[in-house]
Amino acid sequence: MRTELTDKLFQIYPRVFPTPHPRIVVGDGWYEILSGIARKFDDLGDVIILEVRQKIAVLRVDILCPVEKRNIANTILMAAEARSTVTCEDCSEAGRPRSIEGYYRTLCETCAKSWRQRADLQH
Ligand SMILES: [Zn+2]
Repeated sequence: MRTELTDKLFQIYPRVFPTPHPRIVVGDGWYEILSGIARKFDDLGDVIILEVRQKIAVLRVDILCPVEKRNIANTILMAAEARSTVTCEDCSEAGRPRSIEGYYRTLCETCAKSWRQRADLQH
């Protein structure tokens, strides 16, 4: 994700993203999903995001959370994970999980095409 987007999140939700800031290694297309998670965690309080990554085409968010808020935090994350499987990770258009060269990512048709072309160029 572009630094200007992550900086925006760090600025709006300093309680959810305290310093040192977490690693956010997903595409720009998932910004709205991540922003939604951060807003809900901010309302909930006491939830800290440790890392944001992509695993087998799905958004994964590692958190630090008190036991009594664990269930609601997991519910928020499960809804976001479901949304990430139908949202292009690069451009936020409607997408679906795709396998290219052994990697799995959720992408729209256009982004999958350019990703496939980049993969081909590396051979
Ligand atoms: Zn796309």
